[in-house]
Amino acid sequence: MSVPCVAVDRERGETVRTRLADAGALDGDHEIEVVDERIFIPVTTPDAVPADLRDSVVERDPDERERPRTPAEILGYDPSLERLGDLVIIDEENDERAREIADAVMASDVPCDTVLNRASPIEGELRVRRWEVLAGNGTETVHREYGHEFRLDVAEVYFSPRLATERRRIVEQVEPGESVVDMFAGVGPYAIPMAARGASVVACDLNERAIEYLRENAERNGVVDRITAITGDVRELDATYTDTADRIVMNLPHSADEFLDTAVRVAGDDCVVHYYDIQHESDPFGPGTRAIREAAGEAYEVAVETERVVRSYAPHEYNVRLDVRLTRQ
Ligand code: SAM
Repeated sequence: MSVPCVAVDRERGETVRTRLADAGALDGDHEIEVVDERIFIPVTTPDAVPADLRDSVVERDPDERERPRTPAEILGYDPSLERLGDLVIIDEENDERAREIADAVMASDVPCDTVLNRASPIEGELRVRRWEVLAGNGTETVHREYGHEFRLDVAEVYFSPRLATERRRIVEQVEPGESVVDMFAGVGPYAIPMAARGASVVACDLNERAIEYLRENAERNGVVDRITAITGDVRELDATYTDTADRIVMNLPHSADEFLDTAVRVAGDDCVVHYYDIQHESDPFGPGTRAIREAAGEAYEVAVETERVVRSYAPHEYNVRLDVRLTRQ
């Protein structure tokens, strides 16, 4: 299709393009052409071109410009998408709609290799879910969070990018030289940034694959020297770690109370415990506080320093965090 274009020498191209843009004369639907030392800049109409350039208007047949498009533009509605590295995650029960969203994501300007749909809730001791791969072929990715890189496979380990800000709040409290025990460490989103701040971190997880990724991620992020990664049930943590921790992370919200005896065992003389819990909105912090006091017994004075609602988990249920200081009596 014939389109009016302003033809200029190449070295004047950018100056003229800027003038045409300022005049509102640029035609964004067609590509600029470069032929030998001449440049052809598509314009909407010759009348819109500044007077001193009008003699340079010629007719050309440039390619149509491919415009980046969002999934919403393609679909006509805005689907809810979550990004994790180069994976796009959707949560759609209707199979036909899930496929339609995946096709739109792949055809859009969203940079991604794979679209996954949630195929189960998070399940079992290892807190992993099943996935349907709608486009692409893998469930492994490298995710970046606050300057650190985490390789992980969402079909084999737990990871939630939604908790990035929450993790950041905790990581920022860490001082160089601290001894930290991350009791349910996953692929290391607490342990690795804490080690990067100068803490020595013992990172434990029951999931062998999570610990393999954590070791790789420690290397990727240059903190191997400050991380001890341990596969197994944290309740069986070696006696070497008894009475050592300045800080403990307990991110297993459905059953952290079952592990409080271990937390009290590894706590040093003055230790902050970050305790995650899921409770009814009517008393979100009471059960955790009582469980911690009971586990601490006479051995420690217990001071609750923070009570925080992290997010809404289900109707009338919150995912909460208690920061509790244990001081040996
Ligand atoms: N902290 C990580 C994060 O934020 O991504 C992982 C949290 S995930 C909710 C809980 C983790 O606890 C899972 O990786 C699971 O394998 C691990 N886990 C469950 N029971 C455990 C146990 N008895 N000892 C050690 N780890 C356990």
